[in-house]
Amino acid sequence: MGKRKKSTRQPGAGRTKIPPLDTVFTCLFCHHERAVSCKIDDRARIGYLSCKICGQKFSADTDSLTQPIDVYSQWIDACEDVAAQEDA
Ligand SMILES: [Zn+2]
Repeated sequence: MGKRKKSTRQPGAGRTKIPPLDTVFTCLFCHHERAVSCKIDDRARIGYLSCKICGQKFSADTDSLTQPIDVYSQWIDACEDVAAQEDA
């Protein structure tokens, strides 16, 4: 009885979609969101962060697996180290 509706699947629904990687972050110094952008120099294996608002810069050694978020977390660690030293 009746026609069976063909399942309405959205085209491309089965495809695995890789979400774009975050390359912009909140600045640890001026706290502006999306103010810090990260670039990774694959040849030199160095990741660079810079804040477009306050001009803070950071760079870290990377390897082929390093993502911008990893450079950012290294920046957080480095800032915490500095803060700890200033506390002492
Ligand atoms: Zn900043």
